[in-house]
Amino acid sequence: MNSKELYAKAKTLMPGGVNSPLRACRYVNAEPVFIENAKGAYLYDVDGRKYIDYVFSWGPQILGHQDPAVSEAAHKAIDQGSSYGAPCFGEVALAEAINKLVPSMDMMRMVSSGTEATMSALRLARGYTGRNKFVKFIGNYHGHADAFLAAAGSAAAVVPGTPGVPEEVTKHTLLAQYNDLDAVKALFEESGDEIACIIVEPAAGNMGLVKPKNGFLQGLRDVCTQYGAVLIFDEVITGFRLARGGAQECYGITPDLTTLGKIIGGGFPVGCFGGKREIMEHMAPVGGVFQAGTLSGNPVAMAAGLATLNRLAECDYAALEARTTAFTEELASIVEGKGKPVHLVQIGSAFTMYFSDKPVTNMIESGQCDSEAYATYWQQMLAQGVYLAPAGFECAFTSFAHTDEDFEKTLEAARKVEF
Ligand SMILES: *Cc1c(COP(=O)(O)O)cnc(C)c1O
Repeated sequence: MNSKELYAKAKTLMPGGVNSPLRACRYVNAEPVFIENAKGAYLYDVDGRKYIDYVFSWGPQILGHQDPAVSEAAHKAIDQGSSYGAPCFGEVALAEAINKLVPSMDMMRMVSSGTEATMSALRLARGYTGRNKFVKFIGNYHGHADAFLAAAGSAAAVVPGTPGVPEEVTKHTLLAQYNDLDAVKALFEESGDEIACIIVEPAAGNMGLVKPKNGFLQGLRDVCTQYGAVLIFDEVITGFRLARGGAQECYGITPDLTTLGKIIGGGFPVGCFGGKREIMEHMAPVGGVFQAGTLSGNPVAMAAGLATLNRLAECDYAALEARTTAFTEELASIVEGKGKPVHLVQIGSAFTMYFSDKPVTNMIESGQCDSEAYATYWQQMLAQGVYLAPAGFECAFTSFAHTDEDFEKTLEAARKVEF
């Protein structure tokens, strides 16, 4: 079956034909292609077409697809059994490797997705502080647990961001614009002794890439310390991406808890939350905060994750950053040369080229970008073999598998786009 036929069948079996909404490509007025194989920097669809990938499974595949060391480790682990539901070596080895790279994570717990990691970290922060409220930023994404799916309604009232979430659940969710430290301070001045935690993407990657303004993260750190609230860095995207030690290493700010996902699974379903020993020891069975998982610490996923982190130890992040800067600046200048103003944000191997003539520092500005222009660009790039995120407000990624020739081909494709 080709992509068109598969999609027609998929739509009868899954809502929108997909298992995660963005994959349906609605924001770019297109239908998805179905992938059959992926290797290095390339995706191959069932229609026999090859694409240079800039999505990489939305972040995990920083080494490129089928990195030989990661594949070998996973195969070896499968040959020893795919799941035990009992402790295994791989859990200890991966936890030790994470602890070395992210020293703020004295202790941690493995789960099976980023959603589980953030949901559990929130429960832990609430259990630890005995408080219910928490602060999240508009446009930050922390997976799909109920409490995080809140939107700012009129007069900054907090309303459920989706049907199915009771108002009783989001009434504890306090919202602020990203990069607005004064708004956070105001929330704490009003109800500081009821706020369990602030959860933040230390560099935001789910409204397009948005950098934290100077002093923003330090300000959050100070507010949490002052009020006895827990600072949670959601590093599901930024962990091992911005630097081996994540955004906390880049910006030199130490959170109390960190959530990880994506890259630590090496392409398998893994999440992880961890941090200060004093807080983590509130988790069952040592403490009273319950959390569990049938497949948590899965031996195949642990082996792939460990192999990924070991491979990253040999990789030159600074060189990839420099290559990504040169590539994305050229890309932006090509598009601007066609009369479309763009605002480029890049950190390390992550970037977003916003179709906007203004800087983007929060969700309001991200939402003002020209989504029609992005859709045109996306469709024509796809037709020329370049696979970009199917929405203009998403992060794109380069990888250690991209060659200079891949970048050159991508620029060549961009030169041919007609708006
Ligand atoms: C992807 C993501 C999540 C959710 O992870 P899943 O594995 O998709 O559940 C949480 N937080 C951030 C910052 C993410 O980018």
